[in-house]
Amino acid sequence: MDTNNTAIKIAILVREETALRCTGKGCLNAFFAKKEGFEIYADREVELCGFFHSGGELDYKLGKMKEAGVQVIHVSTCMRGKYPGYAELVQKISVDFDVIGYSHGPAQGKTMETVSVTGKYLL
Ligand code: SF4
Repeated sequence: MDTNNTAIKIAILVREETALRCTGKGCLNAFFAKKEGFEIYADREVELCGFFHSGGELDYKLGKMKEAGVQVIHVSTCMRGKYPGYAELVQKISVDFDVIGYSHGPAQGKTMETVSVTGKYLL
């Protein structure tokens, strides 16, 4: 288990098609302000180790994040809204990481409930 004395390492996974036109501003604003999906880090240090999209060799990218010691993957708000198989992907990723199922905006999606799986590093 992680302690509050060391920075927790996280990464943000965004939707490939959205990344073609999104700058990541919403995710990064929320991260640096420790608000919305990142409010859980309000009282602790957090290190952003990766920001990557769902296309290409996703398993490879996740493996590199594991090698880097990443503990929590935020599956972004655009993944929650538009990625087919969002809930299944969260479950798959949760084998190796804690997962928070959104990044910025409302804690619950309009069409899809947020799926998060914690317990390894986050309560
Ligand atoms: S969650 Fe928002 S800011 Fe982050 S990549 Fe998706 S659309 Fe862009």
